[in-house]
Amino acid sequence: MLYLFPFTTSLNFLFFWLTWTTLVLSHSPLRVELFGTAATRLLFYLFPSTLFFVFDVLFPSASASIKAQGQIALPTGHKRRKLGGTEIWIAAWSILNIILSISAQAIVEYTLTKILRVKSAIKVSVRLPYPWALLVDLVRGFILREVLTYVLHRFILHNPRFHLAHAHQVWYHSLRAPWPLTCHYDHPIAHFIWKFIPVYLPAAIFRFHMITYMVFVAVVSLEEVISHCGYASVPAGFLLGRVARRADLHVISGGEGNYSIWGMLDWLGGSTIEVRTEDTPEESEVEVEEAIRRAVEESKRRVTQPRNRTRRRKDL
Ligand SMILES: [Zn+2]
Repeated sequence: MLYLFPFTTSLNFLFFWLTWTTLVLSHSPLRVELFGTAATRLLFYLFPSTLFFVFDVLFPSASASIKAQGQIALPTGHKRRKLGGTEIWIAAWSILNIILSISAQAIVEYTLTKILRVKSAIKVSVRLPYPWALLVDLVRGFILREVLTYVLHRFILHNPRFHLAHAHQVWYHSLRAPWPLTCHYDHPIAHFIWKFIPVYLPAAIFRFHMITYMVFVAVVSLEEVISHCGYASVPAGFLLGRVARRADLHVISGGEGNYSIWGMLDWLGGSTIEVRTEDTPEESEVEVEEAIRRAVEESKRRVTQPRNRTRRRKDL
């Protein structure tokens, strides 16, 4: 196979394979899986998110000018407001939720391999996956993640019959708008439901190779960073920009729609909060602002009514 690649690529590949082989042979599969997941999350989610968060805090005016929703998408919600305990609490919980997810992964793998003595959910082996197999796994992984996110988010976390819906509302939907690090801010059980399961379950069902899983987690992490940074122009272009505006509208509307990430299932399920796409960026920007304004008004109406009802109930 190596003769198909140019010499330097083959050399890089050989070096990578040697490093991977050494890693797998010198550590237990569980340790490789957990360390690999933590390192990927650190590099592709925590590091860029923290960088954006620090930028928002240190240069609020500059940051607000490039946010799709202006200063309400700053961690403090205002250019002149200083960072307070609430924002630090939110950032700390986001990081803690990621640590809890990796702990849950450790419990699952430990139970499978050490207690039940069956195969691990993620395959850790010296033999690397073929590029085509890796690509197929990624595509079906993303499709299943999208389905799981939509179903669990819409029918559990936004279903008033479940107490967890209240927790999701009080935690995640207490945000005025998404800002860096808030993608993983939620009640720990709600976070487990719509952030951990949709990523880990597809990997376990298709029994991803660890390398495939790390690529999957890296792409998911970058998408999460971009969807919650709040910046109007994102480096990855139009498609991820649209994902980011969809996340904005989900938060601003208090969870009226946009339960999936990419939007196809919301369209099929009739739960889209529209972000219209126009021919020019200027027109598109106006449309997005208008959509956000409408969603904010709708959200205010919606939030006022239940509060009145709660107050009346307390009066009884
Ligand atoms: Zn929600």
